[in-house]
Amino acid sequence: MEIVLAESLGFCMGVKRAVDMAYRAIEKADGQQVVTLGPLIHNAQEIERIERDGIKTSDENSIPENSTVIIRAHGVTPQALHSLKARGLKIMDGTCPYVHYSQRKALELYEAGYTVVIAGDRNHPEIRGILGYINDDAYVVKTVEEVRALPALDRAGIIAQTTISPKKYQAIIDALGEKAREVKVCETICDATEENQKAIRELSAEVEMLYVIGGRHSANSNKLVETAREKCPRATLIETAGEINPEDLRGVGRIGIGAGASTPDWMIQSVVERLRAIAEG
Ligand code: SF4
Repeated sequence: MEIVLAESLGFCMGVKRAVDMAYRAIEKADGQQVVTLGPLIHNAQEIERIERDGIKTSDENSIPENSTVIIRAHGVTPQALHSLKARGLKIMDGTCPYVHYSQRKALELYEAGYTVVIAGDRNHPEIRGILGYINDDAYVVKTVEEVRALPALDRAGIIAQTTISPKKYQAIIDALGEKAREVKVCETICDATEENQKAIRELSAEVEMLYVIGGRHSANSNKLVETAREKCPRATLIETAGEINPEDLRGVGRIGIGAGASTPDWMIQSVVERLRAIAEG
């Protein structure tokens, strides 16, 4: 069985940056607690490793005094940031630069008088953070049907959740064009997502079966599976190498591997090793 890795897979720049920042914080902490505000990434196994190394996951109400707080790549509302600073906590801001860009674009649209429309998931922390910059005053839409249900708009400005698929974003933009007199489009989908999406699309056309390694709650990992299934119906999401069932691989000549933006290299490696062991029988 041939094992082929997607050309682009795993940790994106934003997640790598936030994880590195947390480890730098530990070095400088001088005995003080380092916490992340919410899970640093959507990957239970990597969170376990991080916690073993002394970086705890916390929420706003249970941060110990004098801690260093790491803001994760999804970002937070400006109100949350302000309240942490007011408590005298040390902040290290791991907000991904792409997310900062989206926050700025949303604010620019809002201040310029546009009705802000966000293509994405209202409950995703990235979107909740962005909404905080514009007084929660935006329509958040996930589907074309939701756009069609909006009232008629005059000047609409649209941004996308960084992990949305370009195809879905374009469909939402087109639908918005029928609802609003003017639509100003901001390109806020991040390159890392596009690169992983492109790589999985190419790979899925060349393999009989494909595993995407990623957290079950990771939006971008689930989207990779969705994309892969267009060409490879046997694309499956797994969190760990332990989920691989050798029976499923019977007769498979070529298997592909992709990984979500929150999947560390050590987990990709463990899947490769397990597949090699199965192939060697
Ligand atoms: S997926 Fe993109 S936007 Fe999100 S953290 Fe990674 S690099 Fe940043």
